Amino acid sequence: MTVSTDPLVHVINHPLVQHKLTLMRRKDASTNSFRTLLNELSMLMAYEVTRDMPTQEIEIETPLETTTARVIDGKKLVLVSILRAGTGILDGMLTVVPGARVGHIGLYRDPDTLHPVEYYFKMPSDMLERDVVVVDPMLATGHSAAAAIARIKALSPRSIKFVCLLTCPEGIQALRTAHPDVAIYTAAIDRQLNEHGYILPGLGDAGDRIFGTR
Ligand code: URA
Repeated sequence: MTVSTDPLVHVINHPLVQHKLTLMRRKDASTNSFRTLLNELSMLMAYEVTRDMPTQEIEIETPLETTTARVIDGKKLVLVSILRAGTGILDGMLTVVPGARVGHIGLYRDPDTLHPVEYYFKMPSDMLERDVVVVDPMLATGHSAAAAIARIKALSPRSIKFVCLLTCPEGIQALRTAHPDVAIYTAAIDRQLNEHGYILPGLGDAGDRIFGTR
């Protein structure tokens, strides 16, 4: 597995994350277990990606006395799922950040050019001053992620982070070149892309494995 020295590329090496990812990579993992593992992994990744969320002190009453304690501050986070595979990560993240707003962007890869074609775009109405986390399990060529982020940037959110399960050097380079300000969170950086735009060793087609459509 490749490591990164780029401070904006965060590889989440937690043993639970690595263990679940390994189970997901196995070709004999059932659709049900793949989906369950992705859900659990996404909760763990949400924990890392929200680590720097702003908080404020408020006054509360415990059963014994009045005290101050911290709660999350500011406008609600926006989770943006790149359809369709992003849904798998979105569900897990919403379990731990249930108040998040949700956006969807539908992109498919043209099989010849490997370039993204947009077919759907729906974001919460007020994106200004919000922190956005874009989710897609695979950062492969980087084309879809770069296109999605460009569309979201036009709405002027306060910050954008990108979360995936797996990426490769080509995907990281493409996204860092297109959007050098966007931090990438991933569970692993695999060896390379193949000529069809699949990550090696990878885990196959994430959408097919989540939805059992292979
Ligand atoms: N998309 C996938 O689902 N898998 C890959 O390996 C690359 C892109």
